[in-house]
Amino acid sequence: MNQLEFAGKTALVTGGSKGIGRVCCEQLAAAGAAVIVNYSSSEKAALEFVEQIASSGGRAIALQADVSSIDEVQEMVHAGEEALGPIDLLVNNAGIFDYVPHDETTPDIWQRTLNVNLTGTYNVTWAVKPGMIERGYGSIVNMSSISALRPRPLSIAYAVSKAGMISLTQSLSVALAKKGIRVNAVAPGLIETDIISDVSQSDLDNLINQTPMERIGQPKEIADLVLFLLSERSSFMTGQTLVASGGRVMLP
Ligand code: NAP
Repeated sequence: MNQLEFAGKTALVTGGSKGIGRVCCEQLAAAGAAVIVNYSSSEKAALEFVEQIASSGGRAIALQADVSSIDEVQEMVHAGEEALGPIDLLVNNAGIFDYVPHDETTPDIWQRTLNVNLTGTYNVTWAVKPGMIERGYGSIVNMSSISALRPRPLSIAYAVSKAGMISLTQSLSVALAKKGIRVNAVAPGLIETDIISDVSQSDLDNLINQTPMERIGQPKEIADLVLFLLSERSSFMTGQTLVASGGRVMLP
């Protein structure tokens, strides 16, 4: 990769202080982008992280916002653009995971999961896209999941929210193509981050056994795809979902 592939660009990564989002931020900063690291509750991690980026010669700020609140999102985007300039690159990565059977998927769990994962993606895109349209340039990547592509009786709300993100990616990609904005998605399989901490070791072992590559993925293996989709290396791609699951997506 060209080291300064994103020089002069500003990126916003939601849920950027941990897990997959954190590695996306690290790679974007290392490739020259100024990075807005959004967090919801992990303030300490976010503040330490942006200091770490600065001490490696990068530019980053941490901004708090719950992506499910359009008011908080609008405020974050305004503050981020004031500090680092217009947002060219957006990674809708923030997400929560409901690992519960259908009879424990209460209306509250359903609503919260849809609000953060799907409405959150819509909210941040809504706040960022007028500037992208005005400048005739933007690249957006939405973090879906292979849960969108197969039945998931142990995470119904999550699976629906992630399927909605693929549909949103496709519809927005068509709506925004003529404006110079590309919208793509990534659908990871099991990746080693905090979000899967509620999955029991025996369930994890089963999932790994059902994965042709017989292992869990690492955040960098997803961040590499995100950066590819954000970059001009994928300049003729829009509305697409790249799957990275060690082959698990092919199985039930
Ligand atoms: P993670 O380390 O738990 O990260 C989740 C991130 O989402 C955190 O940074 C968290 O920020 C943020 N977040 C949660 N609710 C938020 C809200 N309301 N507003 C703003 N940010 C919020 O897990 P991860 O695996 O890296 O997850 C990143 C994305 O990958 C998620 O969308 C997830 O669904 C997707 N994914 C993960 C896997 C996997 O197996 N790990 C597989 C497929 C897809 P705070 O800590 O500040 O709250």
